[in-house]
Amino acid sequence: SNIPKIVILGAGYGGILTALRLQKELNYNEADVTLVNKHDYHYITTHLHMPAAGTDNPENARVSISKLIDEFKIDFVKSTVVQIRPQDKKVILEDGTLSYDYLVIGLGGEPETFGIPGLGEHAMNIRSINSVRLIREHIEYQFARFKREPHRTDYLTFVVGGAGFTGIEFVGELSDRIPELCKQFDVDPALVKIYNIEAAPTALPGFDPELVEYGMDVLTKKGVTFRIGTAIKECSPEGVVVGEGEEIKSATVIWTGGIRGNRLIEEAGFETMRGRVKVDEFLRSPGNENIYIVGDNSLMFNPEGRPYPPTAQIAMQQGVVCAHNLVASIRNQPPKGFTFSNKGTVASLGKGEAIGIAFGKKYKGRVAAWLKKAIDLRYLFIIGGISLVLRKGKFL
Ligand code: FAD
Repeated sequence: SNIPKIVILGAGYGGILTALRLQKELNYNEADVTLVNKHDYHYITTHLHMPAAGTDNPENARVSISKLIDEFKIDFVKSTVVQIRPQDKKVILEDGTLSYDYLVIGLGGEPETFGIPGLGEHAMNIRSINSVRLIREHIEYQFARFKREPHRTDYLTFVVGGAGFTGIEFVGELSDRIPELCKQFDVDPALVKIYNIEAAPTALPGFDPELVEYGMDVLTKKGVTFRIGTAIKECSPEGVVVGEGEEIKSATVIWTGGIRGNRLIEEAGFETMRGRVKVDEFLRSPGNENIYIVGDNSLMFNPEGRPYPPTAQIAMQQGVVCAHNLVASIRNQPPKGFTFSNKGTVASLGKGEAIGIAFGKKYKGRVAAWLKKAIDLRYLFIIGGISLVLRKGKFL
């Protein structure tokens, strides 16, 4: 048939929003839409710091894709993409091949290790349901091991590399979880150490300095030791080497220090910067006007010429514009340029504590924590309506 084929790779924030909007805007038989994702669920990445620390169940951070999309309108394929072939307009899956007229790449980023030796091999990452289950089990296992080998205090030392939003939110949760684990395993809380190590001269670089100070103060009181302006030089099964050669012995290193684009994009021959493609204002890859790139794999610059940080917020807004432009292209209408509308940023610091900027104002403490909850509920509403809010909202 000559119905255009749209293939969306990845059902993360960018991919799912593109699919949901296409499903709404396309008329019957106007296009064939296929959504491909590694798992049959969408994960709420912005919530993953909680199940990683064990303060929430991983089930609460995922939603079955079949509950979100209308499978009469969108074909869902559960598979892993192994290769993108722009020359042939094909995508190779682990178990098949798809051809497309239009491609949307929303495969999410990968950890950037900046070439630091051992970090790729020995550090864990907060990226997916599977990766956070591993972190949670690993942390509990260290407490159990320590009871058998009480001289091994490195089992009770937790190193978090990176004090960006993910690192800060994770140490907030971890410091809430530690007292509970100490009680459960009869461990003296004074033996447990949480290090948050950041190479930049400040935590949350670029964020409001007064809120950063407040946040660090809250976390320090909860038992987090910050090492700011300190680079991790090496990571091994024994721990990390930092700064001028100081060793921190630890059986648990979690790296949150950087995100790069998905490897498949470089491998496909796209021109990239740290794995991300500098898209045009319509979210298309230069030279491949039938390929749209959304979320962590796209690179866009703000009016001051600085790259937007990869966030769920921008990925969602891109998904909406991407869907609009796909429909426009099919109908031979002009595309719409993307402009980011910053709704604010809130970082959780654990139970009942957060810092954030929204509506041009600063928030901290309990009010900021409510704001965080409101943002999470709004997201559930956008993707799954009131029924999803009722099913999952109570856990946030
Ligand atoms: P993702 O949401 O990463 O989704 C990618 C999808 O592609 C996944 O479903 C994955 O399974 C699938 N996939 C990957 N590879 C393949 C493959 N080869 N084949 C098939 N499928 C594949 N941002 C905010 O705006 N606010 C926040 O408060 C916030 N908090 C965060 C907290 C944490 C702990 C983390 C880790 C991130 C946070 N972020 C936050 C950042 C945000 O989560 C990301 O920027 C966002 O998820 C990027 O969306 P995406 O659509 O690019 O991809």
